[in-house]
This record gives sequence, structure tokens and C-alpha cells, in this order.
Amino acid sequence: MKLKDLWKEKDVTLSFEAFPPKKDSDFVSVALAVAEIARLKPDFVSVTYGAGGGTSAYTPQIAKIVQDQGVTALAHLTCVSSDRNRIHHELDALRAAGIENILALRGDYPEGYDPTAPRDYRYAQDLVKEIRAYGGFSLGGACYPEGHVECHSQAEDLVHLREKVESGVDFLVTQMFFDNSALYSFLYRARQEGITVPVLAGIMPVTNASQMTRILSLSGTTLPNRFRMILDKFRDRPDAMKQAGVVYAAEQMVDLVANGVQGVHVYTMNKPDVAAGLAEHLSKVLGRT
Ligand code: FAD
Repeated sequence: MKLKDLWKEKDVTLSFEAFPPKKDSDFVSVALAVAEIARLKPDFVSVTYGAGGGTSAYTPQIAKIVQDQGVTALAHLTCVSSDRNRIHHELDALRAAGIENILALRGDYPEGYDPTAPRDYRYAQDLVKEIRAYGGFSLGGACYPEGHVECHSQAEDLVHLREKVESGVDFLVTQMFFDNSALYSFLYRARQEGITVPVLAGIMPVTNASQMTRILSLSGTTLPNRFRMILDKFRDRPDAMKQAGVVYAAEQMVDLVANGVQGVHVYTMNKPDVAAGLAEHLSKVLGRT
């Protein structure tokens, strides 16, 4: 299914993010975890591309495993380290795997990267235009309720976001956030900027306090005091941290649905039990049977 049609059928969607194996020997365990996540029957599962050390070569294969469970896959694709040939090779592989949806991203600069050097793609919107010209995919893009780390102002970030959407993006998925008011403020400003496509709220159930340090430094996401206290209290008790992190995410989701978001996209970190807990506890809230 092309995701651009999903919100014609549904008021609010539930989707999960999974990532490919970091090394070849992890393939089987990741494939099993992702299949288990897909069996929860979310509206779609997205599969990252080379993020956090994942192997980009496996994205089409893991996305196919999702679709083999009867669930739509959204394959992430980044362009910052690729030339046109490589992108066309990736698009051919996705098409061959039966994937119809791509989250078109710039990607983070690798270490030692010269951002001024000439290249085929400078921003995600360049990739969006390339895939539109290639044809056959519904496209999503990333957005940042608290602003992208490289951008000087949130207003400027929104101007570039509008350009990206106008290049051919059908829906947006947000960076994780822990304070829903950041999303509401962003949605208000995005609509004022003329961005009308569905915006899916990215929610991270934090199950491990140490994972937060790297994530926060990369994303520029702020932590509300209420959540900081949870991390401080439970960081040395993994079971309690996991329970508290999932409950915090569930509370965020209830509030988001009550305030009319069109979708919640959960960063599952390949943990089927976390995804299952949220899907089951919020089945009525999300209108799932
Ligand atoms: P862009 O939309 O290109 O924006 C990047 C920056 O450039 C912003 O500051 C923007 O304001 C600015 N900009 C855009 N257009 C212009 C312009 N015309 N002129 C001047 N400035 C401009 N990374 C991975 O490696 N793999 C993944 O699978 C992955 N998945 C992600 C999923 C989500 C939902 C999110 C939110 C992020 C993901 N990322 C992933 C991280 C992402 O690649 C980085 O955040 C990256 O730094 C920016 O990517 P982008 O697509 O948002 O870039």
C-alpha cells in the first residue's frame, strides 16, 4: 500500500520503527525481532538506513520481512554519502523487493565530512526530487519539533521543511520529543507556514537510561524535568527504568491522540515486548480492534 492513501482511511495510525542488523551475524536475531514487531499489525513499520551503525545494505531485506507479514514497510534512505548511481541502485533494490514507500532523508554528516564539497545531493529535498523523477514511491520526510540541530532558527527550519514538502513529500515523521507541548507548538507553526501533510509524532519509549546520552547529543531534544527525575531515579534499576519509560511513552501517546494527532510512530529499538505493551495497552485509545 502507498502510505499517502493511509490517512484517507484512518483518523489515527500506529507505526513502529525498526533497524537493520549492525553486523552480518546479527541478521537472524534482528529478522526474528522485526517479524514479531510486524505481527502486531501496526499500520506500517519503517526500517532505518545506516543509522546508529546499522548496515544500509540490509534495509530492503528487512523491509521485505515486514511486508511478508502482510504489513506495509517504509524504507528509510539517506543521500548525504551517495552519488546518483548509488541512489538509483538503492531504488532499484527497493522496487525489486516490492517496497512502495520511502522516508527520504539527508542523513548525518559522517566524521571528517566536508559539507562544502560538491556532491549530487545537498539536502533531503534533492533526494525527494530524484525519487519523484524515478517514480513509483510514496514519500515521507523527517521534521524536528524543536528545530534541527544545524539550523539557526526554527522559523528558517520551517521554511526549508515547506520546500521539502513541496518537492513531493506526502507525510512527515518527527524527531523524538518528550514534551508534547513542543509538538503542539510546532504543528501550529507548520500549519501557518502552509504545511498541511499528515505529521506523525515520533515517540521513544526510553528503556535504558544510558542510551539517552548519545541520542540527546545527536538530536538536540530537550528533557522535561518530570522525565529527568524518572531517569535519575531508575537509571540503575533496568526493570524499573523499562517500566517507567514505557508508561511515560504511553501517557504521551494518550495525550497526543486526545489532541488530534494523525499518527504515532514508535521508536521500538527492535524490542517486540515494548512495541506489544504499547499496542495492547492503547488498543482502544488508538481505535484498534
Ligand atoms: P534536511 O531536510 O535536508 O535538513 C537538514 C538541515 O538542512 C536542516 O537544518 C534544514 O533546515 C537545512 N536545510 C534544508 N534545506 C535547506 C536549503 N535549501 N538551504 C539551507 N538549509 C537547508 N539518519 C540516518 O542516517 N538513517 C536513518 O534511517 C534516519 N532516520 C531518521 C528518521 C527520522 C524520523 C528522523 C527525524 C531522522 C532520521 N535520521 C536518520 C537522521 C537524519 O538523517 C538527520 O537528522 C539529518 O541531520 C537531517 O536529515 P533530514 O532529512 O531532516 O535533512
